[in-house]
Amino acid sequence: MSEKPHIPVHHANLQWREDGQPVSSAFDDIYFSSASGLEETRYVFLAQNNLTERWTALENNGVFTIGETGFGTGLNFLAAWQLWQATAPASAHLHFVSVEKFPLRRDDLARALTLWPELAEFSTQLLRQYPAYLATGVHRLNFGDKVHLTLIIDEASSGFQRLLLDDPPRDRAIDAWFLDGFAPAKNPDMWSEALFRTIADLSTERATFATFTCAGIVKRGLKGVGFALEKVPGFGHKREMLRGSFSASLSEADHSEHAHKTTPWHLPEYTPKRAGNIAVVGAGIAGACAARALAERGFDVTVFEQGDAPGSGASGNDQGILYAKLSPKPGPNGDFNLLALQFAQRYYPALCPQAVHFDGLLQLAQTDKERQLQQQIVQHLCLQKDSELAQPVTDDEASALAGVPLAMPGLYFPQAGWLQPKRVCTTLLQHPNIHIRFTSKVHSARKKDGQWHLGVEKNQSVQEPGTEQQAYDALILCSANFNCDFEQTTPLPLQPIRGQVSFARATAQSSQLNIALCGEGYIAPAHEGDQGQQHSFGATFKLKQTDTAIREDEHQENLTTLATLLPEISQSFAAQKLGGRAALRAATPDYLPMAGPVADWEGLEQTYSALRKNRKQLIDRRAPYQHNLYVLAGLGSRGFTYAPLAAEVIAAWISGEVIPVSEDLVKALHPMRFAIRNLGKNKPLQQE
Ligand code: SAM
Repeated sequence: MSEKPHIPVHHANLQWREDGQPVSSAFDDIYFSSASGLEETRYVFLAQNNLTERWTALENNGVFTIGETGFGTGLNFLAAWQLWQATAPASAHLHFVSVEKFPLRRDDLARALTLWPELAEFSTQLLRQYPAYLATGVHRLNFGDKVHLTLIIDEASSGFQRLLLDDPPRDRAIDAWFLDGFAPAKNPDMWSEALFRTIADLSTERATFATFTCAGIVKRGLKGVGFALEKVPGFGHKREMLRGSFSASLSEADHSEHAHKTTPWHLPEYTPKRAGNIAVVGAGIAGACAARALAERGFDVTVFEQGDAPGSGASGNDQGILYAKLSPKPGPNGDFNLLALQFAQRYYPALCPQAVHFDGLLQLAQTDKERQLQQQIVQHLCLQKDSELAQPVTDDEASALAGVPLAMPGLYFPQAGWLQPKRVCTTLLQHPNIHIRFTSKVHSARKKDGQWHLGVEKNQSVQEPGTEQQAYDALILCSANFNCDFEQTTPLPLQPIRGQVSFARATAQSSQLNIALCGEGYIAPAHEGDQGQQHSFGATFKLKQTDTAIREDEHQENLTTLATLLPEISQSFAAQKLGGRAALRAATPDYLPMAGPVADWEGLEQTYSALRKNRKQLIDRRAPYQHNLYVLAGLGSRGFTYAPLAAEVIAAWISGEVIPVSEDLVKALHPMRFAIRNLGKNKPLQQE
C-alpha cells in the first residue's frame, strides 16, 4: 500500500531576476550559477563524473544510470542528454533518475529553459512530456527509445527509497550522482544522514559523485557511507567543490545484500542473466507493448499470435477508449491508474500518432453516487477548471464539449480520447527487432538447458516443445486468459470477461458527437469503418463467459445502456441492423494487471510456509522463481491505458534497468501477489 497521500504536490514558488534567472522564494537560493548555469553543469556534474570517457567506453546496448537530487529546471538532465548523444554508442541506454520535492510548473519550466537556446532540441521534448499532473510518486518519461527519465516527486531520501533497486542485479543501481539541491546552509534538511545512506545503498560498486558544495555536512555524510572524497577547484568564483567515488569496502553497511524490512517475496533469488532472444505470446495490446519495449532495448523478440493479425482478441475492436479510474484516496489502484493514464497519453501520440484521437474524453456521472465520487476525486486531486489531467464540468459544459445534449455533469479529460486498437497494435509491432508468427498458437512451454522451448500449434499442425527451431532466453505470456493453459501459470487467478461491442452507422445527430463519452457504457465519435461513418458503443461485461458469438440480446443491452447517456441517439441506432464484435478480456480479482515474474510454485510454498501461521512474519529470503518467465496480463477493460506502463515494468524486470514505478506498485502489479495473500490467509496458493 502507498504510505503517503500522493497529493497535493507543492510546486516551486519562483521569483524572476532581471537577467531571466529563476530564484526559489522558499529557499532564497538560485537554481544555477549566475555566470553560466550551463557551463557550471558541464564542469561540475558532467566533467567531474568523467562522463565523456565513461560513455565513450560503453558497450553496445550498455546501460548507464545517473541519480540526481533536485531536478529543478532540468538543466542538468538536458546537458547530460546532449553529451550522451555526442559520446555514447547509439544502442546504449541512459537512465536519469531525479528526485524533486518542489517541481516547477510547466510554464515556469518553459520560461527557465528559454535561457539555453543551444539546448532547445532537448528542452522542447522535455516540455512536451513534462507531466500535466505531478502527483507525488514515480513518473517515467521516455525520450525516443534510448533516453529515459525517471522523475520522482518527493523528498530526496524517501523518494529514492521508493525505487526497487535490488541487489543483484546491480544494473538497476546508480553509476554517477549529481548531488545538486540548494546550498546546505539554505537547505540543511535535504542533506540528511538518511539521504547519504540511501545514496550508498543505491550506488554501484564504482559509482562516482560530484557536487558543487564543500560543506562539512556533505563531506562527513558522504565519507561516513563509504565515498572517497576529493576537493577540486569549483566553477567560476567558487573556490572548491567535491567529487569522489564509492568504495563498498569503505562502507559500513553490508553492500552485498540488503536486510529486508518485509518479506522480499517479490524478488527472484536468482541473478537473471541478460536475455538475448525473447518469445512473447500474444499480439494484443499487452504483447505489442511488451514486444516494443523489449525491441527498443535491443532484444530480439519473436511474437507468437494464434490469430492471423495483431489484435485478434479483445484488442481488435474498431475503436477503443483511453479510460482510467481515478480514485478519491491514495492507494495502488488510483495511483497506477493516474500514472498509467499519463504515460499512455504520452506514449501513443509518440509511437502511433496516426491511430490516436486524443481530443478529449468525458467521464459522465450518471448517478448520485457517481457524482459524489467525482466530487471527492476533484477534491483529493485538487482538480481545477483548467487542469490538464481532468476538469470538473457541469451538464452545460459537458454538452458544449460533446457537441450533443447531455443531462449530467462529469469529468473532462482534455488529453485522453479514443484510438484504433488494431492499428495501434500493428504499428507498435513494426520494429526491426520484432518478428511475428501469426496463426501460431503456443500451447506449452518447457525449460531445457536454461532456455524456453515452445510447443506451437501452427495452422492445425502441432509441434511439440523442443521441435521448434529456436529456443528463447525469456518467455513473456501476454495472451490474456490463455495464460492459464500453461502449467507454469495455471494457478494465476485470471478470469475471462466476455465483452460485446456494437457498431451503428452515424446519423445526422450522432455525427455531432465530438469526443468519446463514457459512463455506464461508452460511445466513440463517428469514424470511417466497414459500413461508412460508424460509431462503436458498448460494451457488455459478462464474467466467466467464454464464447465470442454475437448476441442480439447484448446489442439490446448496449442500446439500453447508451440510452442512459444519449436517449435520442440510442433510439435512432435501435432502428438499424447493428454490427458488432465480441471478445474476451481477462481480469484479476483486484482489477490491477499482472506485470512481473512468475514463481516456482512449490518453492514459494516451501520458502514462505511460515506465513500460513503469521502473515506478518519477516522471512528474509527471496523467493525461488522460474527463470526468465514473465506475465503481462489481466488488463481487463483498461488494456490501452495500462499496457504501455505495465510493459515498461516488464522490460525493466528483464533488462535489469530501474523499474519505472515505486516498489509499492511493483508489488501491487506482481503476478505472485495473490499467492502471497493466500499464504497469509492459510488458503491454497491458487485460490481466488
Ligand atoms: N538540478 C537542477 C537543474 O538542473 O535545474 C537545479 C537544482 S536547484 C539548485 C535545487 C533543487 O532541489 C530545487 O529544484 C529544489 O526544489 C530541490 N529540493 C530542495 N530540497 C529538496 C528535498 N528535500 N528533496 C528533494 N528536492 C529538493
